[in-house]
Amino acid sequence: MGYTDPHCAESRPVAGPSGSRTTRGASRTRLANLHRGCVKVDGNGVRTSTQGSFSGTMVSAMSSSTTARAYWKPEEETLARPALEALQLERLKRTVARVCESVPLYRKKFEQAKVTPGDIRTLADLRRLPFTTGADLRESYPAGMLAVPLDDTLRLHTSSGTTGKPKALFFSRQDVDNAAELIARSFVAAGMTKRDIFQNMMTYGLFTGALVTHYGAEKIGCLVIPAGPGNSDRQLLLMQDFHTTSIHLTPSFALYFADVLEKRSIDPRKDLSLKRAFVGAEPHSEETRRKIEDALGLRVFNSYGLSEMNGPGVAFECQEQAGMHLWEDHYIMEIIDPESGEALPPGERGELVLTTLVREAMPILRYRTRDITSIVDAPCACGRTHRRIQRITGRADDMLIVRGVNIYPQQIERILMGVPKLGRNYVIVLEGFDEMTVKVELSEAGFDDQLEHVMALQNEIVGLLRAEILTKPNVDLVPPGTLPVSEGKAKRVIDNRKL
Ligand code: ADP
Ligand code: ZN
Repeated sequence: MGYTDPHCAESRPVAGPSGSRTTRGASRTRLANLHRGCVKVDGNGVRTSTQGSFSGTMVSAMSSSTTARAYWKPEEETLARPALEALQLERLKRTVARVCESVPLYRKKFEQAKVTPGDIRTLADLRRLPFTTGADLRESYPAGMLAVPLDDTLRLHTSSGTTGKPKALFFSRQDVDNAAELIARSFVAAGMTKRDIFQNMMTYGLFTGALVTHYGAEKIGCLVIPAGPGNSDRQLLLMQDFHTTSIHLTPSFALYFADVLEKRSIDPRKDLSLKRAFVGAEPHSEETRRKIEDALGLRVFNSYGLSEMNGPGVAFECQEQAGMHLWEDHYIMEIIDPESGEALPPGERGELVLTTLVREAMPILRYRTRDITSIVDAPCACGRTHRRIQRITGRADDMLIVRGVNIYPQQIERILMGVPKLGRNYVIVLEGFDEMTVKVELSEAGFDDQLEHVMALQNEIVGLLRAEILTKPNVDLVPPGTLPVSEGKAKRVIDNRKL
């Protein structure tokens, strides 16, 4: 944990009831602190005073453990379940009435399903509503699902198009603000305070990933460095010169960046001030989290979101790092069997379906995310009452069928990341008639020019993979740094099969 320099024990003013804006004086103090190297204030350097209103003011309380527990808006984050569910119902009714009135696609869907807004009397009635799919969004392109006049929209984003043509997503002023609020809530849950220096290494542009988190971090009052992805040397320079404490990036870029630090002989624990990384936008395993944490000397927080639901900030890990709180005052979640569409109980894995409760410009009902996860019903030690979801294991569309066996690429990743002699980059190639080859880089330490050692490692990995995916893949061990690098979402599967 960082050190406390007496010069900067608490030199920044505490925001009062009017909000958390950083004053000019405060920013100067932060820069002065920077130059004195005082930015390593511990993550618990949160304000411990509960003065001020709850609105936009970070508040902390002592948890049963010894660490201070911070909330962005405790009255929203710790709302008792009955009140939270009553709020959901009220917001759901309002959303359903609005889309029925203003979105022809929903009017038509309601007619087909023989349902009217008046039929929604309880939360369970949600199941009477039709699903919305990615295809609905694409067919409504560019503005068919807009629920407000175009003049009332403020920003356009698109999905990154991992699975086809992009979807256009509009935000009203309120939507832009709500998206930033959820990020502020999520970042504070992971221990961020206004003293943090936030280097945003996600892609800026049409993709929601960077802009939404940018405004969320600014809401907290952090110094935000809009670095964007790529250019690792510049990233490193910024981290060193501005004492970056928190970064936001894809897991694949984090793994690559770890390699860069190793090559430059940078010891992040000694040479950098990093405390945490927010990692999202693509599935990754617990093993990958550990690998990033070890290599970058920080804590990794899983961040889940999708453009259709505002982008990042839909579900986020708190300091307990045991599942992601899905912000249930903004979204209703369901888990369904992706084949039958039937609801599945908490604990069972299936497809996540989300309904927006406060989106103005583009409300979406029962959106089939295709993401596979399960609901964690148990209360969280952090005190937040919003239920959690487990790490996403992949998309329903990601599932590969190889020789009749269902395989998720993440199963392969989990095995590879658990082998210390292996590096951090891999690709799964499918060719011919169901021939699967896993190409994986060796780590610098695992690189060995003795053929028999390489063969032995190769056989070991084939065995581990075969036990996990129940079919025998080929394994190709390649030297470190030889596979293509991804700065955004990684393409891990190349399917050239002639089936
Ligand atoms: P696209 O659908 O075009 O990729 P987005 O950029 O909105 O559009 O990406 C959202 C998707 O990214 C999610 O539906 C999910 O599949 C994936 N994703 C986002 N965050 C995570 C995460 N933390 N873990 C796993 N997958 C994630
Ligand atoms: Zn929690």
